[in-house]
Amino acid sequence: MPINDATGKSSPVKRIPAFATLSLLAAFPTLIFVLGGPGAGKGTQCSRLVSRYGFTHLSAGDLLRAEQERPGSQYGQLIKDYIKDGLIVPMEVTIALLENAMNDTISSASSSPKSKRFLIDGFPRKLDQALKFEESVCAAQFVLFYDCPEAAMEARLLERGKTSGRSDDNEESIRKRFRTFVETSMPVVEYYEKQGRVVKIDATPEPDEVEAKTREALRERLGEEF
Ligand code: UDP
Ligand code: MG
Repeated sequence: MPINDATGKSSPVKRIPAFATLSLLAAFPTLIFVLGGPGAGKGTQCSRLVSRYGFTHLSAGDLLRAEQERPGSQYGQLIKDYIKDGLIVPMEVTIALLENAMNDTISSASSSPKSKRFLIDGFPRKLDQALKFEESVCAAQFVLFYDCPEAAMEARLLERGKTSGRSDDNEESIRKRFRTFVETSMPVVEYYEKQGRVVKIDATPEPDEVEAKTREALRERLGEEF
């Protein structure tokens, strides 16, 4: 049976039904992993990208902290212990939290198409998480990696610790987080680097300069009009 085109006239050309396009979008959302050491500025830069371009920012650490506080969560104590010790929470928990948050955004009638593009901040921090997430949830387009010397990151974290109220922004936890980053998380960056999937940004300068560099890099990767 012929179908009507937008003008209401009968058209012999078969159109892709709207629901197929939508489900394709849902199956392949734009997704970027944002990585970097503790205090490199991932969260700061993600917020700026959200304001300017309308991405949805999902911070794995923030999702874990929210789950830790959720009354009745069976993972509260476990998350608390892992975070304080700078260790990686078992990936089933983190992946489920990310997947739920993505599904909420994708299925929400009020979210704009631009918001169905995700900045996944602080994840994956371990190679098995990367493999599992890309296989079972969604492949990342690339990794945005904020590169920063440890001394600068430490100074930022100690400064943030004065007001953040975070249980891991203290000298002892910071030391443990750095160790986890070098031993466990850098191999993830190297894994993606070998595949040519890393966009590296020097995160040492002031946030404005890092933002400018980030926007330039995104234009190169995603095209001028993203
Ligand atoms: N964390 C985790 N898995 C993740 C992301 C975070 O276990 O995929 C835990 C880990 O203990 C980490 C802490 O959450 O040290 C804080 O992460 P967040 O990304 O908030 O810290 P940042 O490195 O951005 O300061
Ligand atoms: Mg953060």
